[in-house]
Amino acid sequence: MDDFDLKREILDSLYDGVYTLDLDRKITYWNKSAERLTGYSRQEVMGRPCSDNILVHVSGEGEKLCQDKCPMVFCVENGQMREAEVFLHHKDGHRMSVAVRATPLHNTAGEIIGAVEVFSDNSSRLATKQRIKELEKLAMLDELTRLPNRRYILGQLGSRLHELRRAGWPFGILYMDIDHFKECNDTYGHDMGDQVLKVVSRTMAHNSRPFDVVGRWGGEEFVGVVPNVNLDNLAKVAERYRNLVANSAVKENGHEVKVTISVGGTMAQPEDSVELLLQRADKNLYASKKAGRDTSTVC
Ligand code: GH3
Ligand code: MG
Ligand code: MG
Repeated sequence: MDDFDLKREILDSLYDGVYTLDLDRKITYWNKSAERLTGYSRQEVMGRPCSDNILVHVSGEGEKLCQDKCPMVFCVENGQMREAEVFLHHKDGHRMSVAVRATPLHNTAGEIIGAVEVFSDNSSRLATKQRIKELEKLAMLDELTRLPNRRYILGQLGSRLHELRRAGWPFGILYMDIDHFKECNDTYGHDMGDQVLKVVSRTMAHNSRPFDVVGRWGGEEFVGVVPNVNLDNLAKVAERYRNLVANSAVKENGHEVKVTISVGGTMAQPEDSVELLLQRADKNLYASKKAGRDTSTVC
């Protein structure tokens, strides 16, 4: 395999879509993920200008970007990387939300000869952003952590219980509490404590499946609502959160502050009230604390 084939194979193995343009904005390279994400094969697009009814970038407001506001043009003209969240045209006709990053390409003399655009599916990130905006409007967002607040979680618990009774849709909950958090505040100060809360919250928010919701219950306590699970899977989700938090670290003056959580989980039963459900999860959380912390108990 020569060097060119190797580079091509590496680019084809990436999960992100990658394509390159020359200065006339003609497509000169198109990887496998670009084919998958857009529906257009390499043969269909090579040598064509990108605005030629292929990708047709639009902004969230529906404004066409291909003429004056193309991220590629910006990066070629200014020699700078350009990032944007745009919507592409999929061959099947629908719009695809993607995050794009355009970077200028140079020849050996240092002159700009085109640009490379890397793009990835942005739909779940966009959905999260929209949810955060909605929650903010409804005053259901916790200011410090940007997670849904207790009021929102209470609403979720109520409607999930209703669905469980009416349609038999199962769900579980996880009660999570940061270990020795008082000590953390006392040792490093309240601001550092806030920083820890933010890092733990981000870890939870970034690692939830699309329908799972984790909110700040209050203080250093969080409640996760996990639909469509059985007990085994709920235990796995609990372990995943516990593990991810244990493996994240908050930096303080060069050294790392270690953070762990204890988790108590339980499946909702049709005869549960919100209070009963939370009490059971809290009892399991207490068992995790007694067992030495950094532990999950799900039953
Ligand atoms: P355990 O392992 O048993 O959970 O011990 P703990 O120290 O985490 O539990 P405890 O309930 O004794 O302490 C909770 C601490 O959380 C006390 C409180 O000052 C602190 N706290 C609550 N809300 C906030 C906040 O918004 N920011 C900061 N920095 N601290 C908070
Ligand atoms: Mg607590
Ligand atoms: Mg605690």
